[in-house]
Amino acid sequence: MQQVRVRFAPSPTGPLHIGGVRTALYNFLFARKNKGTFILRIEDTDQGRFVEGAEEYIIESLKWCGITIDEGIKEGGPFSPYRQSERKEIYKQYADYLISTGAAYYAFDTPGQLDQARSEAENEGCAFLYNASVRDRMQNSLSMPEAKWKTLIEQGVPFVVRYKMPLNEDIHCDDLIRGHIVVHSDTLDDKVLFKSDGMPTYHLANVVDDHLMEISHVIRGEEWLPSLPLHFALYRSFGWDRPLFAHLPLLLKPDGKGKLSKRDGDKMGFPVFPLYWPYGETAKGYREEGYYPEAFVNMLALLGWNPGTEKEIFSMEELIDSFSIERVHKAGSRFDPEKAKWFNHHYLQQRSNKQLAIEFREFLRAKGFHHDIVELETLVGLVKERVNFVKDIWNETDFFFRAPETFDQAVVKKRWKSESPVQLMELRQILNDIPDFTAAATEAAVKKWIAQKNYNIGDVMNAFRLVLVGASRGPHIFDIIAWLGKDETLKRIERGVSIIGNTTS
Ligand code: GLU
Repeated sequence: MQQVRVRFAPSPTGPLHIGGVRTALYNFLFARKNKGTFILRIEDTDQGRFVEGAEEYIIESLKWCGITIDEGIKEGGPFSPYRQSERKEIYKQYADYLISTGAAYYAFDTPGQLDQARSEAENEGCAFLYNASVRDRMQNSLSMPEAKWKTLIEQGVPFVVRYKMPLNEDIHCDDLIRGHIVVHSDTLDDKVLFKSDGMPTYHLANVVDDHLMEISHVIRGEEWLPSLPLHFALYRSFGWDRPLFAHLPLLLKPDGKGKLSKRDGDKMGFPVFPLYWPYGETAKGYREEGYYPEAFVNMLALLGWNPGTEKEIFSMEELIDSFSIERVHKAGSRFDPEKAKWFNHHYLQQRSNKQLAIEFREFLRAKGFHHDIVELETLVGLVKERVNFVKDIWNETDFFFRAPETFDQAVVKKRWKSESPVQLMELRQILNDIPDFTAAATEAAVKKWIAQKNYNIGDVMNAFRLVLVGASRGPHIFDIIAWLGKDETLKRIERGVSIIGNTTS
C-alpha cells in the first residue's frame, strides 16, 4: 500500500465542534494504525470568517485528546507551510494552469448582476446554477471576446476564476464508506476557485494541497460529500492521481432528528465542544465540565465506528489497533449525553484513590479548603462508586468539610424522636471516652452501648446521621466520624441536639 498520509484540515472559524474532533481522531487512528503520517493543515483562506483564537483552540483540543501531530503549523514538515494563508502564492499558478487548459475561466459578474440572474431564475421557478446553461449570458471570458476580458483584467476590474463544469456528463466518484456515487454534471455549478482578493477558495486550495502534500486518504465529514464530484473533476483536470475518500457520518441530536448543534447542548446541559470557548459567545467544554480525555476520546471513537464486538472500553492504543474505515457507519450517529457520563464514570473508577485525592484537592482548594492527600484518599474511597466526575465528590462529601447549617425538615419530622436528645448526649459521652477513634473501635463501642440500653439501633443511628450530615445521606456513619475526628463529632452532636431539640420542642 502507498505510504499513508492523512490530514485534518479545519478552518479556524470558531471553536472546534466535537464532530470535528472526531474527524481528527479517525484520521489520527488511521495514520497510527497504518504507520502513516498525521498532518494538521489550517484552511484559513476565507479571511472573512477567520476568528482570533480558533487556531490555538484547535491545537489545544487535539493535544488534550492525545492526538499528536506529525506535520503541521507548529511542527513544520517537508511540505511547509501548513497554513493556507501562507501558501497564497502557490494557488494562483494552479488557477492559471486551469485557465490555460480551458478548464477554468475568468468571471466579472458583479454581486448585483448575480442577484439579478438569481431572481430571474427563481421567477421561472428554478434554482440558479452558474454553469453551461447560463455561462454565455454572463460576464466572463467565455462569453466575451478575448481582447475585452484582457482589457478588464488590465484595468483592474475585480474578477473570480470559475471552474468550467463539463457539460452533460456523469461524474463517477468512489467513497470508502458510501461506495460508488454518480452525479450528473448539469446539476453542479461552476464553482469559484479563486477570488479577486488573490485568495483561492476552499475547493482549489484543498485539492492543490492534498496533491502537493501527497495525501493518500481524505477522511472528512459528510458535509463535504456534495463537493466530491467537483473535487474528482478537478483532479482529472489537473491530470493528478486522486487520494481515496471517506466521508464520515454526521453526529446527530440525542433524539436523532438532525445535526447536533450548540443549541442542543445548551438546552440539555452538555457541551458540544472539547474545551471551554472563552471568546464572544462563550461555550462549555468537556474538559472544564470534568471529563477525562480518555473518556471523551473513547466515547467519540464509538460515535460512527464500531469494533464489531460488544467491547466498549478502549484505550487509545486499543483504538489504534482496532480501527478500520470499513467499520465506520454510513448512518448518522446519535449523541447520547448519558453515555458520555457513563464513560467518565468508568474511567474515574479506574483511577486510584490517591490520584482522585490529588484531583479533588485542587477542587477543594478553589473552595478554600486545605486538606492533605492521605485524608482525602480515605474520603474519596468512601464515595467513589457513586460519582461520575471529581466535582461530584463534593456533592457527596460536602458535610465532611463543613458542619450542616440546616437540618432537612422532612428527615427531622420522620427520624427525630422525643428521646433522641437524651440518647445522643449519652452517645456523646460514649464517644468521648474512646481513646482510639477508628471506625472499628467506635462502631464496637456504640453497638455495645445500644445493646446494653436496649435502644432501637435504627432510631439512634438516624438521629446521629442527622446531626452529623444535616440529612439522611452519606456513607457508613462510623467512616464519617473516623474522618471527622472526635472533637468535630462531639461538636456536631451538641450543636444538632441544641438546634433540632429546640426546633421540635
Ligand atoms: N476546511 C474544511 C473544514 O473546515 C476541510 C474539509 C476537508 O477536510 O476537505 O472542514
